[in-house]
Amino acid sequence: MLCVCAGLYDVFCAGLYNSISLEQGIIWQRLQLNIIGFVSVFFVWFINGFTEQKSKLIIKLSTIWFLIILIASFLVNPGLSLSLLKPAIKHVSFFSIFNITYYECEMGIVYIVETLSILVLYLYLLVISIRYYLKSRSRIFLVFICSLAVFFFGVANDILVGLQVYSFIYVSEYAYFSIIMAMAYILLSKFVGVQIAYEELNNKLELKVEERTEENEKLQDKLHQSEKMAAVGQLAGGVAHEINNPMTIILGYAQIVLKRIKPEDPLSKPLLAIEKEAIRCKKLIENLLTFSRASKMVKQTGDVNKAIKEAVALIEPQAKVKNTGIVVNYADKLPDIMIDVNQIQQIIINLCNNAMDAMPAGGTIKIETAQDDKFVKIAVSDNGSGISDENKKKLFEPFFTTKEVGKGTGLGLSICYELANKHGGDISVESEVGKGTTFMVRLPK
Ligand code: ADP
Ligand code: MG
Repeated sequence: MLCVCAGLYDVFCAGLYNSISLEQGIIWQRLQLNIIGFVSVFFVWFINGFTEQKSKLIIKLSTIWFLIILIASFLVNPGLSLSLLKPAIKHVSFFSIFNITYYECEMGIVYIVETLSILVLYLYLLVISIRYYLKSRSRIFLVFICSLAVFFFGVANDILVGLQVYSFIYVSEYAYFSIIMAMAYILLSKFVGVQIAYEELNNKLELKVEERTEENEKLQDKLHQSEKMAAVGQLAGGVAHEINNPMTIILGYAQIVLKRIKPEDPLSKPLLAIEKEAIRCKKLIENLLTFSRASKMVKQTGDVNKAIKEAVALIEPQAKVKNTGIVVNYADKLPDIMIDVNQIQQIIINLCNNAMDAMPAGGTIKIETAQDDKFVKIAVSDNGSGISDENKKKLFEPFFTTKEVGKGTGLGLSICYELANKHGGDISVESEVGKGTTFMVRLPK
């Protein structure tokens, strides 16, 4: 609105310049003097908003004041506003470049009051602008204050010329440009600011999308793994069950025959071998069966620390033989959580067996429990051979083993994975080749 009114003011100025008689001139002069009231009101409104003035009183008062003047200028005797009877034709030349004749009349009291109040109002605007600048130190606003000062001197000049104090061209119509340019500059810099913020937001969003994609990929991997586990589990369960019965029979007959023959009998040696291998087969089958049966579990509220203590008691004799120490560090005040104690112990035993295998010359296994707001955590660490990055990827796959035939089945970690999963938790590994390995099991509270 400010720009529209300033534009109109300029149009009326052009009208005044091109007037060739007092009758024409007075029409434009009147229009000019009337529109200048509107310009002032919108100007106050704009600056008030920009400088964050809380009170709207000045806007209201100046609106009412200029409306009164507008109405008065139409109603009062022309002698008090503009009258053809009081011509004030001005011949001015600007450094003798152009010579202009303004066909004007002397301003009556109504318009004199208007112009003086405009001057006061602009002084007020200058003051609040400077105050705002001192508070905000906004450089952009400095541009605005400069343009306001230019404009203020323009208006002061016009008033003095209008009052015939001296003879010069009117300049406020040019001074408007400085204000409009300043407004454009401020709005542009705000726009640039918004654009930068927008770009930052965009970048953040891109990062988020990347994070999500990565998370999704991980989830996909997990899903793939558990699908594989389920399939292998079914297969292994079926096969194990089928083999279990004949194996029991083989073992049973081998043992019966062994009892009947004397130790020095030449058949004794092969029979002992049959018995030993059959026992190993049965153990493997047992493993396969637990793996496939992992879904059937008995969950009860239980103490993880206590479960670990019992499991450690089971492994300790074997560890001693292998020159391995077991150091346990139990967290205080672990809450009881829903667990299948047998399965948790199976996880611990599997992890400890692996740790012992990774430290053939002996070493130390560290078992630690801890908690955060969501999980009870069990960490099993060793200072053994460590695991290569390549093997880490396949670690939890069924039948993945690096051990020689007869030593490893490759089922230990996949069982751990399955069991942790069935508890709603997970298992992860951190390892450095040559330094050691830590398996972390997390069980939800
Ligand atoms: P297995 O012990 O029968 O080989 P697992 O599933 O228990 O099967 O382990 C798979 C493989 O993971 C092992 O063969 C071994 O290479 C590696 N591994 C597991 N635990 C450790 C460990 N603590 N240190 C080094 N390697 C390990
Ligand atoms: Mg193992």
